[in-house]
Amino acid sequence: MAQNFMFKTETKRLLDMMINSIYTHKEIFLRELISNASDAIDKRHYLSLTDTSLQADYQILIEASKEHRTLTITDNGIGMTLEELQNNLGTIAKSGSKEFIEQIKDDQNKDAVDIIGQFGVGFYSAFMVAKEVLVFTKSPKENKAYLFKSEGLESYTIEETDYNDYGTKIVLILRDNDDDNNYDEYLDEYKIKELVRKYSDYVRYPIKTWVTKFVPSEEKDENGESKETEEVVLDTINSMIPIWKKAKKDVTEEELNEFYKQKFMDWQDPLLTLFTSVEGNVTYNALVFVPKKAPFDLNNERYEKGIQLYTKGVFILDKCKELVPDYLRFIKGLVDSSDLSLNISREMLQDDRTLQRIASNLEKKILSEFTKTLKNNREKYEEFFKTYGINLKYGLYENFGSKKEELKDLILFNTMNEDKPVTLKEYVEHMKENQKAIYFASGQNKEAVLNLPQVDAIKKQGYDLLILTDYVDEFMLQVLKEYDGKEFKSISQGDLDLLSEEESKEVDKIKEDNKDLIADIKAALPEVKEVVLSKRLTDSPVCLRAGDNLSFEMEKVLNAQQNGNGTMKAERILEINPNHDVFKKMEELYKNDKASITEIAKVLYNQALLLEGMPLDNPKEFADLVTKLLVK
Ligand code: ADP
Repeated sequence: MAQNFMFKTETKRLLDMMINSIYTHKEIFLRELISNASDAIDKRHYLSLTDTSLQADYQILIEASKEHRTLTITDNGIGMTLEELQNNLGTIAKSGSKEFIEQIKDDQNKDAVDIIGQFGVGFYSAFMVAKEVLVFTKSPKENKAYLFKSEGLESYTIEETDYNDYGTKIVLILRDNDDDNNYDEYLDEYKIKELVRKYSDYVRYPIKTWVTKFVPSEEKDENGESKETEEVVLDTINSMIPIWKKAKKDVTEEELNEFYKQKFMDWQDPLLTLFTSVEGNVTYNALVFVPKKAPFDLNNERYEKGIQLYTKGVFILDKCKELVPDYLRFIKGLVDSSDLSLNISREMLQDDRTLQRIASNLEKKILSEFTKTLKNNREKYEEFFKTYGINLKYGLYENFGSKKEELKDLILFNTMNEDKPVTLKEYVEHMKENQKAIYFASGQNKEAVLNLPQVDAIKKQGYDLLILTDYVDEFMLQVLKEYDGKEFKSISQGDLDLLSEEESKEVDKIKEDNKDLIADIKAALPEVKEVVLSKRLTDSPVCLRAGDNLSFEMEKVLNAQQNGNGTMKAERILEINPNHDVFKKMEELYKNDKASITEIAKVLYNQALLLEGMPLDNPKEFADLVTKLLVK
């Protein structure tokens, strides 16, 4: 007697989506069912290692009946017990399906149509093409066989049935053709072959179907040639060779993209793909992908980096972190090496010399792929760098810059003069003849940096300026020290050395003449280490410069790392423009109104802080002083 069960709400929703789906790649149902079959065989195979009676010639069989309009997929895998049937097919087990449901919950499936295929909605996808699905199944864990039947609506039935072999047979009764869909095509031999090759070629077990073949017969035709007769035979239609074991020339970009999306659950093609096989010191095949979008938690400490590890085509480990340096944590992919032993354990991986050699070889290959992209496909590289540049920067900074030679030419910088980011090499190539250093300035964003008073001097010389906006940038340059013999120079630190000898002497003279005034300004500003006459300002009255040890940007970063409780302080040096009217006014006032110097000094210092994007020590005092000046 068949028993009737209701689908849970969540499942009903998913089924509903499948039935009403106008998704254009309904064909993925076959991939999903084959992948389930292959998993089921994996499970049986595993059991058979301890229970030899379960050994079998594993296969997945696809049979089409044009007469009955049925497509049947049979595997001799593990099958399902009654309980498993209910748990696995009666409810949504799969994380992919759950994620899918989550995704479409909010935005009433506007985009859902496009992404069904990428989530791998598993068994339920059958209802995109079938009006009724029958599942015959028998598990070695239970003596009985069962038949599950559903039209994908409210409910399903389960009854006992006769089924001899262990495994599962899924019969799809295809939907009627309509204006948009010709479901009959799934009964077509060529279509079945095409779909298997496209989606399931590397499945480890033979996928067989009945194919028509012309075979030479004994009979001869009138010309004496062997006559051919048509025969329908069972043929294996997948190559069973993992895609990464194939020759590069035999694999299309589309196949690689398809493989990536399926295997790593992405719905977009990868941004970059590296397909390589190495022989020599180490031997391995690798497929490495850079996803278009970084996972949201990529730079979270808990993010698990790593790529899959196979040995001789056998899956060993899902996230082998030893194969991926931290700064490449965003890559996905796999490595298959015959140099590693099959029973290598997780603990042993850490010190495995072969694995280390593979890792370092693969790292080089990946970096050279980046270099190639930078050279040949700038736009793509810029897109890549926008997403993952921060990781490369960390790579350069980490471990005391041990990777700086490899990475320095892969970093892109925004600059004052260019609309597009440039490499250091490009910056240096564009340097003016008399320009000695590579100038940089840090800030919240380009606009804020360009508002810094110190920028004027660089502009005046016609130099370009690197604009640093990532918090790791300055630390990275500090590690890098120089590029092509040119040192990096912050426009907010040290001596910029931009004036001619004459101009410089002139400033020194003004300084000499105003020694007392400058000393009094310094006395008014105890938080400032030094007050100097500027050799870098052209248009602005003042600017703030940091002492040589710590920059303002580093001060911000280091203090932020301690949740704002940090006490690191960069030395503050106030530079005053000797040629600005404000200074001239101060010279004037100093003669008969010394008292006001203190107030002006404070206002100027606070202005400089504001322009640097730094908090004022005493905003109230500043506001009061400005008000006082306004009514003067
Ligand atoms: P997923 O395969 O991702 O878990 P599905 O909805 O496709 O999601 O399948 C749900 C579960 O049903 C599977 O995890 C598996 O336990 C079981 N199942 C599906 N197809 C088969 C099969 N051919 N043989 C045995 N079990 C199966």
